[in-house]
Amino acid sequence: MAALVLGALAALLALLAARAAAFKPRAAAGPRAAALDPAASPPCLGRVDAPSAAARLAEMLRRRTVSSRDLSKVDYREYESFIELLPGLYPAAHRAMTREVAGGYSLLYHWKGRSASEPLVLMAHYDVVAAEGAGWSHPPFSGRIAEGKVWGRGSLDTKCTLCCALEAVELLAASGCVPERDIYLSFGHDEEVAGEGTPAILALLALRGVQPGLVLDEGGGVVEGVFPGVTRPAALIGVAEKGITDLELSARSPGGHASTPPRRGAAAALARAVLRLERRPFPPSLPRPTLAMLGELGRHAPFGLRLVLANLWLFRPLLAAAFAASGGETGAMCRTTTAVTMLAGSEGANILPARVSAVVNMRIAIGETVEGALARIRRVVADPRIELALIHPGEPSPVSETEGPSWELVAGAASATYPEAVAAPYVALGATDARHYARLCPRVYRFSPFEFSKAERASMHAVDEAIPVAKLGKGIEFYLRLIAAYPPKPSAPGKET
Ligand SMILES: [Zn+2]
Repeated sequence: MAALVLGALAALLALLAARAAAFKPRAAAGPRAAALDPAASPPCLGRVDAPSAAARLAEMLRRRTVSSRDLSKVDYREYESFIELLPGLYPAAHRAMTREVAGGYSLLYHWKGRSASEPLVLMAHYDVVAAEGAGWSHPPFSGRIAEGKVWGRGSLDTKCTLCCALEAVELLAASGCVPERDIYLSFGHDEEVAGEGTPAILALLALRGVQPGLVLDEGGGVVEGVFPGVTRPAALIGVAEKGITDLELSARSPGGHASTPPRRGAAAALARAVLRLERRPFPPSLPRPTLAMLGELGRHAPFGLRLVLANLWLFRPLLAAAFAASGGETGAMCRTTTAVTMLAGSEGANILPARVSAVVNMRIAIGETVEGALARIRRVVADPRIELALIHPGEPSPVSETEGPSWELVAGAASATYPEAVAAPYVALGATDARHYARLCPRVYRFSPFEFSKAERASMHAVDEAIPVAKLGKGIEFYLRLIAAYPPKPSAPGKET
């Protein structure tokens, strides 16, 4: 009997090891190369001029296009100034494309190609979050170029992508290029406040029956050190984003004077509910796009980790639990998260609250729903005194294709621009305007084609946001490759590696 068990164990170990050994970096040829061919190196590539692009980006950064949920605080003269600035910066692009304004200040550019079917849509937003100036090395709206970088709010999020997309179109248009398919540039003006700009653009496109073939927005980027044991950088391409939902928990009581408090008042009931949420987080899971990410990055991990990642049929629950337990970004990738953000009670120190409330900001994991999350919270709170009210429910986005010619084209353009990086899909944790497009196109990708250091990632929405001039050049190269190779060539059947 013991021999039988030992034999089975040995066979299992051999199987695990064999799978781990076969789980290795993909061959360089294959569908990715096919998708990019034959336009992998558009002739304009040699004419990319990063310092000039930096000067144009600096001009954009000098416009204080700060959005706000309180529209009375928005200075629309800055928006008008930004819109008026662009034709002078990109004359050939503006001769080649038509431009219209949607939803107030959002911009939709249309570059007619040889065919109008399945156009390419390049997205960005030009609104930025506020910046006061304290703590900045250079004033946030000065557009200063110093120490090899362009400084300012929006330099990374995300006037950089808007700039590089226009730089690429300018180069191509100036050399007389006519794209194979129509190209749209979709530039929102209120992404940071989840506004109506991009939905207004979509309404225009829908009216004209435009069905995009591939959509690219901000989201991932080329990053290092995000995955244990993988020394190569990763080009993380967002294929989905979590849903954002605000849920209000509240409880009522008669109120009255604080000198005669009731037993188990409303505040205590609410506090207990918050604690129950904290103690019983959502169960961990590894949604399909996260598995796809592990399937790419894991190939470059040391053998011990490959042993686990190549055998997810066995280790998947264990890995999900380990990821979730590690917290931070890794943890957030593996479950629906809840964060209590706004607490409110009575107005005075000696007044019992008639109503207490807490807002729970939820990030709904791929594969789950608002309704399911709500039902679980109701079960966990388990208190009829607590009322639950959904404010701003937002479902997770659909998941874009992680294989096929369109995926290979985006991943291929990223790989051609950053040959040392491993391209992999991932789930974006933040929200982007791309979610609006995801409802009508199954090929929406979130990738800002820049190498982001940890400090650069931390500077978005914080102080000292700046982009190195050399990185802008790489961004332009990426857009040139993507536009020149669009539409992707279908890979020959059976060539899959
Ligand atoms: Zn952004």
